[in-house]
Amino acid sequence: MSALIAAHNQLDFLSNHDALTELPNRSLFHDRLQQSIAAARRNGGQLALLLVNVDRLSRINDSLGHAAGDALLREVARRARGIAGPLDTVARLSGDEFVLLLTGCEDTEDIIFSARRLIDAIAQPHSVGGHDVVVTGSIGISVFPRDGDAPGDLLKAADAALAHQKDAGRNGFRFFKGEMNAQALRWLALETRLRRAIGRAELALHFQPQVAGRDGRVLGMEALLRWHSPELGRISPADFIPLAEDTGLILPIGDWVIRQACLQNKAWQDAGLARVPVAVNVSAHQFKAGTVPAVVRAALLESGLEPQYLEIELTESVMLGDTTAAEAQLAELRAMGVSLSLDDFGTGYSSLGYLSRFSLDKLKIDQAFVRNITTDPRSAAIAQATLALADGLALRVVAEGVETVAQRDFLGRIGCEVLQGYLYSPPLPAREMQALLEAGHVAL
Ligand code: C2E
Ligand code: MG
Ligand code: MG
Repeated sequence: MSALIAAHNQLDFLSNHDALTELPNRSLFHDRLQQSIAAARRNGGQLALLLVNVDRLSRINDSLGHAAGDALLREVARRARGIAGPLDTVARLSGDEFVLLLTGCEDTEDIIFSARRLIDAIAQPHSVGGHDVVVTGSIGISVFPRDGDAPGDLLKAADAALAHQKDAGRNGFRFFKGEMNAQALRWLALETRLRRAIGRAELALHFQPQVAGRDGRVLGMEALLRWHSPELGRISPADFIPLAEDTGLILPIGDWVIRQACLQNKAWQDAGLARVPVAVNVSAHQFKAGTVPAVVRAALLESGLEPQYLEIELTESVMLGDTTAAEAQLAELRAMGVSLSLDDFGTGYSSLGYLSRFSLDKLKIDQAFVRNITTDPRSAAIAQATLALADGLALRVVAEGVETVAQRDFLGRIGCEVLQGYLYSPPLPAREMQALLEAGHVAL
């Protein structure tokens, strides 16, 4: 009996999978797509179908033989599976055609990101039959529900997009819907430019002073990244930091920011100016990479800046997910003598649990609360509770986004002594920050 079941299972597997790659075949893929559509309909989700063609496979078959072609296809299948999430499906539809069904795609950027990774993965050299061969992939993309709500329609739309992409020169991706291509193009163009910006001195740090509310004395400063592209003009970090995070560019950029902030602060100290800490924003992606302590150590060493003059600003997202890795890095930073400040406090997942577990030095009251502090009792209460909490945990507090005298006075009354915002100064280019450090305080 059990032999019968095993045989049945084997038959079932064989009839639903491609023999060469062991991926689901067209008929199983059809079923999976149907199920995913039903689920997406229930929970209002979006699906993307990435139809992938391995370009010029026949050339490999002709020149190196079919065994080499087969090995290549198996490797492409393996790489595609590596990109798919646990709920996604990779299938082989025909000779040189694969499909990736993405289920958890919230927006177009998620889809673009996966398409890029797939193209890059296919384009990495393959070693088949003792040869290094390079092939490219072309991708046509359709999206449920906008391009159709039946498996056949979605496949047809992806196929049409793929045909366009092949005409346009292969090794790229294309959406069925025109406006999504426009968005992808903007995004890609930005990425290419940002990549070049790193080597071309288009990035700069500006500095915003943090001052004593009582007399305007400069107590510290925050380094804020600026990008001036010759083609696109000034681009806000709110726009390009997320892009840098999605593309991994945040790592070289983040390293540069930390080094540059240390070098600049040390240069000012050597010139005899006020010795104050510089705060640097570090994104959760940098902590995920695990390299922050090493980068900080190298930057301190290279610049000669003493660690107490460097502060790392992190957001609550760092403390979510794999917290043990983040915890270890934060502990290492503190052991070096660098201080830690929690940015945008109150906007995230503020929980007492992590506040006591992660040893921090400072909380920054988010500008969203400061903005409404004199008009909205809830914002005022949040600011007040933050101060009480900080007091209990022996943390310092900075209020950011202070724009008016009324806000300053209110913050002073509830005991917030360090302020940052346009009322005192916008972020300044290094030369103007230097003038401020020479004066030692902002003009009130
Ligand atoms: P953030 O760290 O919370 O920085 C504060 C933002 O508020 C800055 O925007 C600053 O210019 C702005 N700001 C300061 N005072 C006022 C005020 O009185 N009113 C208003 N309305 N805004 C004020 P910016 O420079 O555009 O930076 C935006 C965000 O980009 C930063 O928020 C930070 O999260 C991120 N960012 C900036 N530089 C870096 C960086 O080097 N690395 C990383 N990972 N993120 C950065
Ligand atoms: Mg900040
Ligand atoms: Mg902030």
